[in-house]
Amino acid sequence: MLPGTAAAAAPSAASSSDLSKRLAGALDELRLYNSHEHLIPEKTRLEQAVDFFGLAGHYAMNDLISAGLAGDALATVRDEHAPAERRWAAFEPYWNAARFTGYGQALSIAIKDLYGVEEISRGTISRINEAIRNRNKPGLYREVLRERAKIDWCLVDPYWNEKPARLDQDYFLLAQKFDGFVTPASRRDIERLEGIAGVSIHSLADHKRALAATFEQAIRAGMVSVKSTLAYRRDLKFEEVSDHDADIEFERLLKGGVETPAGFRAHKVRPFRALEDHMFHQVVRLADAHKFPFQIHTGLLAGNACFVENTNPKLLANLFHLYPGVKFDLFHIGYPYQEELGVLVKLFPNVYADFCWAHIISPPGSRRTLDEYLETVPVNKIMGFGGDYRFPELTYAHAKIARSNVAHVLTAKVESGLFSEDQALEVGRFLLRDNALKLFPPQGAASAT
Ligand SMILES: [Zn+2]
Repeated sequence: MLPGTAAAAAPSAASSSDLSKRLAGALDELRLYNSHEHLIPEKTRLEQAVDFFGLAGHYAMNDLISAGLAGDALATVRDEHAPAERRWAAFEPYWNAARFTGYGQALSIAIKDLYGVEEISRGTISRINEAIRNRNKPGLYREVLRERAKIDWCLVDPYWNEKPARLDQDYFLLAQKFDGFVTPASRRDIERLEGIAGVSIHSLADHKRALAATFEQAIRAGMVSVKSTLAYRRDLKFEEVSDHDADIEFERLLKGGVETPAGFRAHKVRPFRALEDHMFHQVVRLADAHKFPFQIHTGLLAGNACFVENTNPKLLANLFHLYPGVKFDLFHIGYPYQEELGVLVKLFPNVYADFCWAHIISPPGSRRTLDEYLETVPVNKIMGFGGDYRFPELTYAHAKIARSNVAHVLTAKVESGLFSEDQALEVGRFLLRDNALKLFPPQGAASAT
């Protein structure tokens, strides 16, 4: 040990734990900006008979399937008409294997904190379901998201609304996708897009007009960010393609006659790839012209299969060069490509890292990545939390894990001597609130307190 470093390097156990408690306590009180959600409208939620297995269906179930849940057992778990005890018997062996993952942790936290049941088991499953049913009433969202999770704004991608529409809560902000205009593959797709845009499409120029009209609809619906999840369909390398070359493919599409492969093969074979590339640039140009930030899915895909290499954020680098005026918010820390993503954020003034989903994909992976980013990229480039859930209970749980992860990393930075305690609090506020507030100002939305 070097002389003079003893105090910073070896704090007493008592002062260290006091510090971590103070930082955790301060972050628990901080009101959050949640940079990414899919929260369904509260009315839709209240109409559904949501129970424990419904909540487990978002993400936790993917880890149970990974653990081996399949066939009749999976069908029983998903059978809403089967008795809860039977569903639990099919669920339990795989839950025992998957309960310690981030998804499992989030589900356990939601049940414990919001429904007051310590242990999820055969003996408590009916009580849990009853507690969820009893709480399924108007005001659920405000109570869970605003009061318990202390979230001021949620930036929501309502993927079920291909036609832009206003969101149901005054603290929900719209992130709108235009991916359907990028990947039309049939005459039927074109007809669907005509219906959304209210524009007839007989040429590539018409198609672009339809996209622009839909973009205007989104602005009127209160859009705060453009969003893309094209990594679910194809790789993220969008080449520059001339109007002429895109036009040739568009004419071919209008004539039909090209068979689009189904299922996972669709990722590899893109019959209208040049058109897709061309149209994606068109969406980015609209974001540029109207000064909207652009959220892009990178890294791990939801579900139980993906070509993860297609989702590497480094594939997007040409866009960062070409559109310096567009602020790109790259999702999920590009997990497992968080180092590549960190390089892009470090280099490009217009590229940001977003920890949405990440704290439950891998709680320790997120802590390690935040530890690295805090000494690699400027602190104003990091969005520290996005729930990425359909159900508010799980957003609450995810926020709890995120706060704890951020507190854990900030404590270590103070202990190492990099930050003062005040600086740690300031950075915590940047990560969990101020950076997103600056990148995605709520604009016309009702201001939250
Ligand atoms: Zn998402």
